[in-house]
Amino acid sequence: MDVKHLSITELHAAYTSRELSVEAVTSAYLDSITKRDGSLQAYLTVLGEAAMGQADALDERLRHGEQPIGLFGVPIAIKDNMCLAGTRTTAASKILDPYVAPYTATAVQKVADSGAVILGKTNLDEFAMGSSTENSAYQKTANPWDTTRVPGGSSGGSAVAVASQQALVALGSDTGGSIRQPASLCGVVGLKPTYGRVSRHGLIALSSSLDQIGPFARNVSDAFSVYQAIVGRDAYDATTTEEASVNRDVLTKGLAGLRVGFLEAAMLAGMDEEVKARVQEALALMEKAGAKIVPLKIPSAKLSLALYYVIVTSEVSSNLARYDGLRYGVAQSPVGSTFQKFTTANRSHGLGQEAQRRSILGTYTLSKGYADRYYNRAHELMDVVAQDFAAAFRDVDVLFGPTAPTVAFKLGEKFNDPLTMYLSDIFTVPANIANLPAISMPIGFAHQLPVGGQFMGPQFGEGQIFQAAAGYEAESGFTNLVADGLA
Ligand code: GLN
Repeated sequence: MDVKHLSITELHAAYTSRELSVEAVTSAYLDSITKRDGSLQAYLTVLGEAAMGQADALDERLRHGEQPIGLFGVPIAIKDNMCLAGTRTTAASKILDPYVAPYTATAVQKVADSGAVILGKTNLDEFAMGSSTENSAYQKTANPWDTTRVPGGSSGGSAVAVASQQALVALGSDTGGSIRQPASLCGVVGLKPTYGRVSRHGLIALSSSLDQIGPFARNVSDAFSVYQAIVGRDAYDATTTEEASVNRDVLTKGLAGLRVGFLEAAMLAGMDEEVKARVQEALALMEKAGAKIVPLKIPSAKLSLALYYVIVTSEVSSNLARYDGLRYGVAQSPVGSTFQKFTTANRSHGLGQEAQRRSILGTYTLSKGYADRYYNRAHELMDVVAQDFAAAFRDVDVLFGPTAPTVAFKLGEKFNDPLTMYLSDIFTVPANIANLPAISMPIGFAHQLPVGGQFMGPQFGEGQIFQAAAGYEAESGFTNLVADGLA
């Protein structure tokens, strides 16, 4: 038996019966990293020794009769924009190097407290800006279904780690689609919770009013387990909520009677025809299983991408201002020149092209006289989009559509064309702008590559989207996909 095929529930049964030890499972995953990551490049840091130490301690607890629950003995990968005390944290930027986090992000602490074994830190687009993971200053991560293609981004390393069985589950962050889009391109499940569900404390900020941490897994139930472990109010993040979480029984409620809205605009001209076909087939399958499909229009949704890039660039210019070479990283220019020369030298050297582009754009949209016209206006319109989505949810329980317009594209294909790259997020960004939970899951294949579908729910409606996703998964059988055509 390959232990890497086991779900969390199956692992827990094997731990309880003593068929497996946490050490055996952890070392199977570490072996997989040794074997596969040379070609895939999902990890920036592997914490082999620490992971084996954690596994040993968990086995000791099993020997004392502890029942495995939560994430007990679950090997997990963490996107490298979340702090883990005592370990290198890069956000895939050179400007932070050689930063070692002095504290642990709340979400990471929560998975550890729940018993997860942390295998390492995964690659991403620099500061989570991008849709292909090609903006990392360190390495390019390959898609395990076809290593000439991108895994999506920005949480590409986490998506690949899960899809190629180099971790059972992973944490990513999603500001405009960075969990759902790579999940879609790699054939795994990825959830962006409602803003405020999960603490952002210890997450290196991209866009503070949109960033949210969430799970990757190979099936909906495992994603739910990680979600349950990380949610909740946190004194270190004032935007977290007291809102009650979700009961696991939603996973077995099924699709019968569920009202599934379908946004007509989600079938854009220019979208891959085969991806469109998979979405139509998924809707047909849901209808057959008793769901009611409701065609809908939300005209303001199309503003989302434009609003997103005003808000993100503005907040990037503010959040990245602290990386001046004085407080973090290795200074490139000797102290003694003017402050302007000093920071210019450090930032030009330490920040990649996309980070520089957004800092410059955001400085403009926040500047005196323009902030009202751009940043503040974008936030006002964000509320309009949110209200229109909220109104739509009076008639439906969930919305369903494609996660991304295409399957995984070739490495290099969109790298020099930022606008085309931004369009990869056309279907994921609305959930961030309207502050809705959304989950991407496999719905089939096109061009021999995985296709993802996305369920969106009302604010704090994670229960509905987990119900829909688990119901669809049970009907379709598209679950626990493993990219075995590995280089
Ligand atoms: N691709 C989007 C961007 O470049 C989303 C990134 C994210 O969600 N972190 O901003």
